[in-house]
Amino acid sequence: SAKSTGLGKWAFFNTKMTDKAVAALKIEADLHHALNKEQLELHFQPKINLMTGDIVGVEALMRWRNGEKLISPGVFIPIAEESGLIVAIGQWVIKQTCMILAEWRKNYNNVPPIAINIASKQFVDPKLVSQIKQQALSRHVPSHLIEIEITESSFINDIQFAIAQIEQLTSAGFKVAIDDFGTGYSSLSYLKLLPINTLKIDRAFIEGLPENDAIASTILMLGKQMKLDIVAEGIDEKKQLNWLKEKQCPIGQGYLFSKPLPKEQFEKLYMQPKQESMKFI
Ligand code: C2E
Ligand code: MG
Ligand code: MG
Ligand code: MG
Repeated sequence: SAKSTGLGKWAFFNTKMTDKAVAALKIEADLHHALNKEQLELHFQPKINLMTGDIVGVEALMRWRNGEKLISPGVFIPIAEESGLIVAIGQWVIKQTCMILAEWRKNYNNVPPIAINIASKQFVDPKLVSQIKQQALSRHVPSHLIEIEITESSFINDIQFAIAQIEQLTSAGFKVAIDDFGTGYSSLSYLKLLPINTLKIDRAFIEGLPENDAIASTILMLGKQMKLDIVAEGIDEKKQLNWLKEKQCPIGQGYLFSKPLPKEQFEKLYMQPKQESMKFI
């Protein structure tokens, strides 16, 4: 090891770090600047009522515009979580979402709720709920326009804390969904304890429809039993949609309807501008 050879840190880095870890360090360093340099942006993917085709919500998905490249969250979110940067980035997402909702309320009719993804490191922060409340309040955004998506990893370590945290969110009027449901390690007995509103069926269980339908069927039944809303993620084929409609899955999102779009493009395609004469502020 580095210590026994007396070569210090440098030798340790040379011998022990993989290329991947070095790349991660580089991304982490750049990510620090991304926030200050305003290189982060939110893209928007509509959630569709599968019975009527109406847009019932929209998920905000982060992108990192780094020079020519548009980096996807699959690359930088894990690194941000590892380094703790996710807390600052997450605060930016909350603030940005509230600003956009305020702008939409001013300019558009029928503003859909925006769902934001909250990493588990962020979810376990006791200040999270007051931060969201404060941001919403300061921009006069009603809480029903904000939805919180958490994954099972947010509650496996401390179920009592998670119950209290979700309780605080829902009693303030924010909706809470479990994202990627079925991919984590939570048990069904936990699920019963959590005061959530929605389960999102992970894309992995939508992919194989209609042939491989065991897990999607089970989650749909579970949702009905527990009176939870169900969202099917990653619908990208008509045959998947047909199966979901037949099983009366209420909500879905996926490339079949729309990819996540930059804000301006989402507005142009899906929002209805208020008439100028109707704008009072
Ligand atoms: P997620 O929250 O489960 O988001 C769904 C992902 O599936 C998104 O990937 C979306 O673009 C993609 N997707 C949607 N429909 C389809 C489809 O029909 N086919 C395929 N192949 N993919 C589809 P994206 O935007 O790359 O985000 C990946 C993950 O990164 C998200 O998964 C979420 O866990 C995380 N993430 C994104 N934005 C944020 C954020 O602001 N904060 C945090 N903490 N995590 C975020
Ligand atoms: Mg999500
Ligand atoms: Mg998901
Ligand atoms: Mg995910």
